[in-house]
Amino acid sequence: MTQDLFSTQIEAVAVCHTPYKQKFGIPRQPGLVDARGFVELIGQFNHLDTVRGIEQYSHLWLVFCFHENLAQGWKTTVRPPRLGGNEKLGVFATRATFRPNGLGQSVVKLHQVIYKNGKVMLEISGMDLVDNTPIIDIKPYIPFSDAINSAQGGMAQDAPILKPVSFTELALAQISQYEQHHPQRAGFEQLIEGVLAQDPRPAYKKAKADPKRYQVALYDRDIFWHVDNDTIFVTEIVPTTV
Ligand code: SAM
Repeated sequence: MTQDLFSTQIEAVAVCHTPYKQKFGIPRQPGLVDARGFVELIGQFNHLDTVRGIEQYSHLWLVFCFHENLAQGWKTTVRPPRLGGNEKLGVFATRATFRPNGLGQSVVKLHQVIYKNGKVMLEISGMDLVDNTPIIDIKPYIPFSDAINSAQGGMAQDAPILKPVSFTELALAQISQYEQHHPQRAGFEQLIEGVLAQDPRPAYKKAKADPKRYQVALYDRDIFWHVDNDTIFVTEIVPTTV
């Protein structure tokens, strides 16, 4: 067999718009946080015919490019955060982002197809993608084949244990003001809670007292928080600096 059979050009078919402006804080798999996003078809794929019939499916597979990590290449072994960074596993035994070809795949919920100002968009939720991630392919999720009830999840058998999230009065007032100015982003408090309940800190930080003040960027806001006694405290929400 020639090498050519194994090398091909790949062209993005869409771009995914999400509230996640930086990698830190994004859920580590799809379906963990009920965040809304949009898949915007681009170029020759921006045509209603390419998605004709897609509404009959409740969920889709998105095949995408880990574009923010491509420059760093891939690694034979990785240290999965779930194992506290202490154990090495082969890249193909994990869902790590530093992979040959830099491809990821996620199941997301499909809400509706939108056609506006000549653009075809799929409104989705539950994605684990940073804003502006290039989408390489979109396919329907087919439960009879894709859902395997007896499957073994290895080190990732169970969803992460959630932490309680508490908001200061200042943070709640800032959220309420934000939602008033951005009615299409109602549910901002639930989004923040969903993201932070996952406790995005690296595993080694979770093992002991951690006085650090953390920040995650959602939409155009920086969310400041810290952890005390295994509870996440959201202290302030300000216009973003990233
Ligand atoms: N569900 C996918 C999979 O299994 O292929 C992705 C899993 S990967 C562990 C999810 C993480 O990838 C997110 O928490 C975020 O930190 C990172 N990420 C998301 N979009 C990315 C992008 N476009 N480039 C690089 N990293 C990204």
